[in-house]
Amino acid sequence: MLIFNTLTKKKEEFIPLNPPKVTIYVCGPTIYDFFHIGNARTFVSADIIRRYLEYKNYDVMFVMNLTDVDDKLIKKSNEENLPVEKIAQKYAEAFFEDIAKLGIKKANVYPKATEHMTEIIDLINTLVDKGFAYNVDGNVFYDVKKFKGYGKLSGKNVEDLESGARVEINEDKQNPLDFSLWKKAKLGEPFWESPWGNGRPGWHIECSAMSMKHLGQTIDIHIGGSDLVFPHHENEIAQSEAACNTEFVKYWIHCGFLNINQEKMSKSLGNFFTAREILKRFNPNAIRLFFSQTHFSGPLSFSDELLEGAEKGLEKIYNLVQRIESIAPSNDSGLITFEQERYLFAFESAMDDNFNTSQALAAIYDFTRDFNKYLSKNEKVPVEVLDSAKKFLKSTLTDVLGIQVFKEAENRNSKEDELIKLFIDLRTKAKLEKNYKLADEIRDNLKNIGVILEDSKEGTTYKISSK
Ligand code: AMP
Ligand code: ZN
Repeated sequence: MLIFNTLTKKKEEFIPLNPPKVTIYVCGPTIYDFFHIGNARTFVSADIIRRYLEYKNYDVMFVMNLTDVDDKLIKKSNEENLPVEKIAQKYAEAFFEDIAKLGIKKANVYPKATEHMTEIIDLINTLVDKGFAYNVDGNVFYDVKKFKGYGKLSGKNVEDLESGARVEINEDKQNPLDFSLWKKAKLGEPFWESPWGNGRPGWHIECSAMSMKHLGQTIDIHIGGSDLVFPHHENEIAQSEAACNTEFVKYWIHCGFLNINQEKMSKSLGNFFTAREILKRFNPNAIRLFFSQTHFSGPLSFSDELLEGAEKGLEKIYNLVQRIESIAPSNDSGLITFEQERYLFAFESAMDDNFNTSQALAAIYDFTRDFNKYLSKNEKVPVEVLDSAKKFLKSTLTDVLGIQVFKEAENRNSKEDELIKLFIDLRTKAKLEKNYKLADEIRDNLKNIGVILEDSKEGTTYKISSK
């Protein structure tokens, strides 16, 4: 299996440190607002990488951090007149709701910076002790010149960076490239005690400390959007490797941008749609299909038309699934079978080649076309053929790409259906008893888990969707 490593700038055979274990760290969101559909692309790409490794029977330990204290959070806390913790809590909850709707598997751990102050301070201490960091009046900086490998990830060298660096406002730094490890407390800002006085950590050190705490000094894979290569990941390497004298990350994976009108979608440019807005208008499976149609590392343009195109693609797959489900399998001997190994082989070969989802989807579309033809030609279909077709669609689309194709049908027949109906009955009863508070609570709580109730004269029905 090949992975393109940003560090070596080539595709490399994937050899985990301690197979079957694979450790992955993803730079997660700053929880000061709803995340946009560009961020969602990176989160979905990381999810597919994890899912494929699990499909290959690796035992994946997946960590995604949440940045819960920084300038953006402090600004928002002033705007909304709420403490920073409340802002972080509000948007962390929103983050979990949105990733669940997008079918993103939960990480094993979501470490938060504010819950790792001891580890962060210890790490800064080590860097100060080893001479890689210096304290100027309560502000601690990393001394970039001290770390020999600085620039190895981004391919930048210190001299070029220095000549290109903007004049820094911060006079305390010895070199404009040096970056903050600890920021002295300012009036009205949250702070923690430290050997350098009250303050808060810089962003880069949080990831080094949390990755180390949860996954060890050297990890297999680190993932983030390509805007993080420099300076964030370059700085993470400088911090971690200087502190531990060992390689920080084996494989660096960077995801391409989601663009809108040829520009990177970003909060600061104001050209973004939140994932929530898009999820209200489009099926999450279509969103995932849309992302999977393009290789994760390249740029991808966003538009409603392109998402509508993905919905059409999804429709084709749904149609085939429905067709498969409506056929009564036959046990007659001598029926014509359908050879499908080659589609799975094509799918896996594509995914083994640096997670090439667009090629992998081509294998699924080939299967869809050919299996439809087969069904049209054959009135009776052997049970094994139907079973293995279902298995193929489930393991490729659902398990690996996270696109649910059987879910609707499964939902209707499951205990889930019975339970939801039980809640609907309880709500109806509450309404009859004029306990509207309870009735609304039932409706709202169901909505939070993606079950939308619809009242009509005939009674209450529900749909499971985030559309
Ligand atoms: P942020 O909350 O801005 O730090 O972003 C969270 C993650 O989303 C990071 O890994 C970013 O690199 C990534 N990201 C931000 N903007 C985009 C975009 N337009 N397309 C893809 N990924 C992005
Ligand atoms: Zn990070």
